[in-house]
Amino acid sequence: MIIAVDGPTASGKGTIARALAAHFGLPHLDTGLLYRAVGRQVQLNGADPDDPEAALAACAFGNDLLDDAILRSEEVGGLASRVSVHPAVRRALYERQRAFALQAGGAVLDGRDIGTVIAPEAEVKLFVTASVAERARRRWQEMKARGIDVPLTAIERDIAARDARDMGREDAPLRPATDALVLDTTHLGREAAIEAAITAVLAKSARA
Ligand code: C5P
Repeated sequence: MIIAVDGPTASGKGTIARALAAHFGLPHLDTGLLYRAVGRQVQLNGADPDDPEAALAACAFGNDLLDDAILRSEEVGGLASRVSVHPAVRRALYERQRAFALQAGGAVLDGRDIGTVIAPEAEVKLFVTASVAERARRRWQEMKARGIDVPLTAIERDIAARDARDMGREDAPLRPATDALVLDTTHLGREAAIEAAITAVLAKSARA
């Protein structure tokens, strides 16, 4: 079974994807991490993330980079969003994601275009979303817990900019697949959101 979990930044899709993988005993790939590695590698190369050739060259990042905690930073998230608009970058990362999706026994992948581009045949497609204000509040809380104090308004601005870039790009824009189940977590706690996702997968597999 392939489970595709797409959605905007800080929607809770990563948490949901990890929980589904644990619950159903499937391997999980956070595809955002690949784009983050490209963004970070561009930075390490002292190159321009908006230059398609420089971004493509950064796709040759070493696998060790995927374990670097700096990939989780807001700054690298912004760089990832910029390199991800280049079709050549998306092509370069395609095979790796596709192979992960097609492994025997199935997999859970989370990202922006899993249900639409990477694995359109996925048996279950979830599109996890929440309001910008709620996503900004969650990110702010997360950062505060890590001792980083950034004004909520700045986070809200960043999230809105990232959404606009992810939804507005020509190649693989962020949007729900026509057969995706939209899960709005604005008013759902963590456990309730996970439970709703598990229920959706069970309902879908019972029908298959
Ligand atoms: O999910 P995460 O915030 O880690 O993703 C970072 C950025 O990578 C996103 O803002 C998006 O621009 C890009 N991305 C993408 N396609 C994916 C996963 C992430 O374009 N499948």
